[in-house]
Amino acid sequence: MIILKIGGNILNKPDALAAALDYFAALEGPAVLVHGGGRKASEVIAAMGMEPKMIDGRRITDAATLEIVTMVYGGLINKQVVADLQARGRNAIGLSGADGNAVLAEKRPVKTIDYGFAGDVLGADGSLLWQLLDAGLTPVMCPITHNGKGQLLNTNADTIANETAIAVARARPEEQVSLRYCFEFPGVMHDIKDPESWIPELQPSSYAAFKAAGTIVGGMIPKLDNAFAAVAAGVGEVIIGDLPALQAGKGTRIIGGS
Ligand code: ADP
Repeated sequence: MIILKIGGNILNKPDALAAALDYFAALEGPAVLVHGGGRKASEVIAAMGMEPKMIDGRRITDAATLEIVTMVYGGLINKQVVADLQARGRNAIGLSGADGNAVLAEKRPVKTIDYGFAGDVLGADGSLLWQLLDAGLTPVMCPITHNGKGQLLNTNADTIANETAIAVARARPEEQVSLRYCFEFPGVMHDIKDPESWIPELQPSSYAAFKAAGTIVGGMIPKLDNAFAAVAAGVGEVIIGDLPALQAGKGTRIIGGS
């Protein structure tokens, strides 16, 4: 059972996206695809004369932004990816967190920063995903969730991938679940300018040391926090890398423990 998350820099490039979908469609056995947002939402926000609002690489989702990300992530991107998988012989079905109550979230509480309609995931429904998979369908999940009270929420796609992996692993402990994050580097890097410098394995202790040294920064930190949480919660394998790395069984492997 494989969960593949494709990042923003893959979605932005048609050739990279096509190659990732070729890889995904050819995977044997049950598989779930999770996609992020990419550049498109920011383009639509700008085209409507609004300013994309970001703090530390995270989007601030005001009411108008929520409408646009729902249209772009849940509509355009999700349906295009579903159609692209149909063209590759995978009977894909697009899901937001609201569809089938697949992923329930709550609006992020305001501490120092008000992220607006950002969703913190409470849990994904592993048995729903298995029902779809057992029926021969391939779920394609976008990063829009809901709170069960009618409020849609914009949610980090890495978190959706992570919570989905945890939920399917919990629902069927006998299944080996592999969570793969596909992005634009061969793995977590010592030096992002040196493609040979990918780190084969990360443990919590080496992760902490790399963070302290400033080797691991920015968007990689929430990604790895999610990855370690998945391993701790019983996901059998978590790998981060670019498409060639994933195809070759390489990339950075996340190891639990200390
Ligand atoms: P995605 O949309 O693919 O999930 P993110 O921006 O959330 O992208 O996370 C990936 C980013 O993390 C990379 O594009 C890179 O800029 C950044 N990053 C920070 N530190 C590292 C590192 N040590 N190795 C690889 N990428 C890193």
